[in-house]
Amino acid sequence: MFIDAHAHMISRTTDDYEAMATAGVVALIEPAFWIGQPRTHVGTYIDYLSAIVGWERFRAGQFGIRHYCTIGLNSKEANNEELAEGVMEILPRFALKDGVVAIGEIGYDEQTDLEDKYFRAQIELAKELDMPVMIHTPHRDKKRGTTRSMDVILEHGLAPRRVVIDHNNEETVREVLDRGFWAAFSIYPSTKMGNERMVEIMRQYGAERIIVDSACDWGISDPLGVPKTAKLALQRGIPEAEVRLACYQNALAAYGQSGQMQESDWLSPPPIDQRTLYEGNSILRGGREARVEEPKRSMEELLIE
Ligand SMILES: [Zn+2]
Repeated sequence: MFIDAHAHMISRTTDDYEAMATAGVVALIEPAFWIGQPRTHVGTYIDYLSAIVGWERFRAGQFGIRHYCTIGLNSKEANNEELAEGVMEILPRFALKDGVVAIGEIGYDEQTDLEDKYFRAQIELAKELDMPVMIHTPHRDKKRGTTRSMDVILEHGLAPRRVVIDHNNEETVREVLDRGFWAAFSIYPSTKMGNERMVEIMRQYGAERIIVDSACDWGISDPLGVPKTAKLALQRGIPEAEVRLACYQNALAAYGQSGQMQESDWLSPPPIDQRTLYEGNSILRGGREARVEEPKRSMEELLIE
């Protein structure tokens, strides 16, 4: 069984859901993020957040995958102050919905003053609501941005065990682990972190507090990043217990702190019934026959060896 702790499924197709379910992904977390072009007003943000807590959760369930999400104002759009102010007002009402496991993904993009302002405001929100936090670390000037993110979190008094630092690489992992945070890695084809590099990191650092995710989104990315990395790691001699930690157990331990995510969600799942509607809408088209299945998932049949 795998958990993909970072997957922007709103950008993905039903084929992706089918492939993930077949590969053993039982649960995933969809972080709130930007959509590839700037949003122009808070209304589009409200609809986006409604979609990831509602329709997308339903859609994943139609393929037997449990869907969770994180709620937050992303760093890029923090630079639009008018939008950011509006979003900050509506965040609390979304953060408390079913299946929301953290405030995120928040942090720095270009490390501007506005990004800093809304990053801090959302850390305070996480404290107030007693929620875990998912940190997006910047692609540019990553090392400094990662250090700064952790400094700010500690300055606000959040416990590192409540915070996942995502998009790590070889340059940042040591400090993140040494300071007691969860260290997540997004496996991207040819850009940030390929899975051979990931396996080497596991060889060097073990799997304690390491989380592997795909971060699949609207860009070139691979929704099978977690199961593929797990398989490669096993092939390259990483112990099964460590693969299990990095590709399943640690994500559950970190985000399970929200009280919104537990193993029984997928060990005793509701049946797949594609005849079900969400606000009158279905994933089916035309005369396609609905898939209807009683739950039959068990630990044994999902082990991928
Ligand atoms: Zn993301």
